[in-house]
Amino acid sequence: MQNLYEGIILKYVDYKDNDKILTIFTKNGLQSLIAKGVKTGKRANLLDTGNLISYDIVKTKGLPILTTVILKNSFAEDKPQYSFYILFLLEVILKIQREGEDESLMYYILLYCLQNLSGNSNLYLSLFLVKVLYYEGVFIDLYSCLVCGKEFNENSNIIVSSEGVTHLSCSNLKEKNINNDTIKLLRYLLNFDIRKNKFNFSIDDLIIKESLFYLISFTENFFSSSIKSKEYITV
Ligand SMILES: [Zn+2]
Repeated sequence: MQNLYEGIILKYVDYKDNDKILTIFTKNGLQSLIAKGVKTGKRANLLDTGNLISYDIVKTKGLPILTTVILKNSFAEDKPQYSFYILFLLEVILKIQREGEDESLMYYILLYCLQNLSGNSNLYLSLFLVKVLYYEGVFIDLYSCLVCGKEFNENSNIIVSSEGVTHLSCSNLKEKNINNDTIKLLRYLLNFDIRKNKFNFSIDDLIIKESLFYLISFTENFFSSSIKSKEYITV
């Protein structure tokens, strides 16, 4: 028989002697539940953060209790060298923190990025942050200047600040201009459809790092808090 639910374990805290309280990201948003008797024994490994599981619950007056669980994918165990990237993705999802809403779009994007991290981790982190910002309603105009309103062209010197994207000449900030290829990559990521598109071309690593750097600062600015696990990834 099929389990009723499927989700990705975002975090857990120890509870009582041998139980854990899990926070799971599903298509329908966050779900918290109690897993009994799981600190030791066979089920302990099934419930690591970042694991994709299918599961069933019984409802109680308090938190639901986990009954059956099947491990579908352990991303961190399969690819330990990517565990910090996985932590990063999970930390950002936890910042969205809504319970009981339709989150299927973000759910499939998280799953897609977890499955593809080994390709080019920084690229998938960038894609993920672009989609998170879009999903949260943060509109970054990558096509025209925030100050003068004119469209950018191939020769524009463009800078990116926490306020937005402007011509270098329209800003008071004395910052380094952003590479035009980075702007192109950000536009590409914004329009990227995980059901249709594939990254079947090579993109310069420095361009990817620059785009990720800006996306992290946009995201931190939006949530008004830092992403702690960025310390462990190389940007
Ligand atoms: Zn301008």
